[in-house]
Amino acid sequence: MLPHMRYSVFKVLRDGLTSNRHLQPAWRDAVPKPHYDIVIVGGGGHGMATAYYLAKVHGLTNIAVVEKGWIGGGNAGRNTTIIRSNYLLAANEPFYEWSMKLWEGLEQELNYNVMVSQSGIINLIHSDAQRDAYVRRGNAMILNGAGAKLLSREDVREHLPFLDFDNGRFPIKGGLQQPRAGTARHDAVVWGYARAASALGVDIIQNCEVVDFLFQDGRIAGVKTTRGDIKADKTALAVAGNTSRLTSKLGFRLPIESYVLQAFISEGLKPFIHGAFTFGAGHFYCSQSDKGELVFGGDIDGYNSYAQRGNLPVVEDVFEGGAALIPFLPRLRYLRQWAGICDMSMDGSPIMCVGPVPGLYLNAAWNYGGFKATPASGWCFAHTIARDEAHPLNKNFRIDRFRTGHLIDEKGVGAQPNLH
Ligand SMILES: Cc1cc2nc3c(=O)[nH]c(=O)nc-3n(C[C@H](O)[C@H](O)[C@H](O)COP(=O)(O)OP(=O)(O)OC[C@H]3O[C@@H](n4cnc5c(N)ncnc54)[C@H](O)[C@@H]3O)c2cc1C
Repeated sequence: MLPHMRYSVFKVLRDGLTSNRHLQPAWRDAVPKPHYDIVIVGGGGHGMATAYYLAKVHGLTNIAVVEKGWIGGGNAGRNTTIIRSNYLLAANEPFYEWSMKLWEGLEQELNYNVMVSQSGIINLIHSDAQRDAYVRRGNAMILNGAGAKLLSREDVREHLPFLDFDNGRFPIKGGLQQPRAGTARHDAVVWGYARAASALGVDIIQNCEVVDFLFQDGRIAGVKTTRGDIKADKTALAVAGNTSRLTSKLGFRLPIESYVLQAFISEGLKPFIHGAFTFGAGHFYCSQSDKGELVFGGDIDGYNSYAQRGNLPVVEDVFEGGAALIPFLPRLRYLRQWAGICDMSMDGSPIMCVGPVPGLYLNAAWNYGGFKATPASGWCFAHTIARDEAHPLNKNFRIDRFRTGHLIDEKGVGAQPNLH
């Protein structure tokens, strides 16, 4: 990044004193070249982070990120911004903990304010069985250096005094807290990676939809797009909910189903929630944005869809779950609701691997929890593409596990709702 482009307090002062006359676009909106070493399809968080780490860590800069709309217009800009590393299984926990570590230094790394706020997350406990499961998960987190605290009912009351602790059906019995978890400004993460990748020479090509693939000698040799053919030695997919659409052009089906997940925000309120909390038993989770809005969500919609909008029965379901936990929730006014397409795998864990077709690299199946994975996903996918082999942290995210039976069945994180 050229010195005059670095963001700092001095730059803010200089731009202010010169009426912003020297402001420059944060990244180049590139025109496609006929050939790249690597084409990454999908300008969400994962695609952009991959491009950045390919350039920064592996020194590969002849790269294009091809995005059918605008960067960050997919799930990256539609999620509820929660980041955490509170997983159980050995195949997942170290990966998400590495992501957490990257989040902790991301603003300095990218020289961009992605608004990481480590205000913590609490998973509420409503039954003895849930407590057993959370104790086990908390121990796995502690063993992996992620940190975890088991909270009593009274501890939870100190953090979240406004909850209905004595709800007849879902009395609150405690919680599992990860104090280092929190939130980050979702679309700023995409912009930050885009700016840093662009400064290293990566081409970011928006309004360019990949409609098919080019083949040569039995390998994928690039992509056909709405802006012409782009040849590439390596083609990497990071298109989240649209992955199965693109792989259908290659003649194979993935163990992924695309579902819509909705999110909601209320009117702004004075700050009263520090961190996020989840109500797995009632299918609801919530945090408060810096503007004061309650940001919350719940279940996926009940049918497969590629539409980025949700249906009304799930709206009702989410509000019912929320009202069982937060008695004043129905008295608030609601500003907006939106939806994104989630790529749900059959064991709830991601797929990140070389192949399954020569020349292709796959990054998918983030279910409804891929935002927190963004930095580690970019880091590991860049390694996988550059070296043609998985990084130790994603070696278990192979696609053939669905054939061999080596599933990563992370209960309560994948195909079950509310632990975003
Ligand atoms: C409502 C909601 C709430 C969520 N909350 C959380 C949360 O709190 N925490 C968490 O960790 N995760 C959360 N998630 C999940 C998370 O947002 C996703 O798993 C993650 O963003 C997916 O990776 P991505 O950012 O690369 O995807 P996306 O941003 O969807 O990027 C994929 C991109 O590919 C582009 N694309 C698709 N097809 C083509 C094509 N043919 N040609 C070119 N470009 C194409 C799309 O336009 C899109 O921009 C949530 C998701 C939703 C929908």
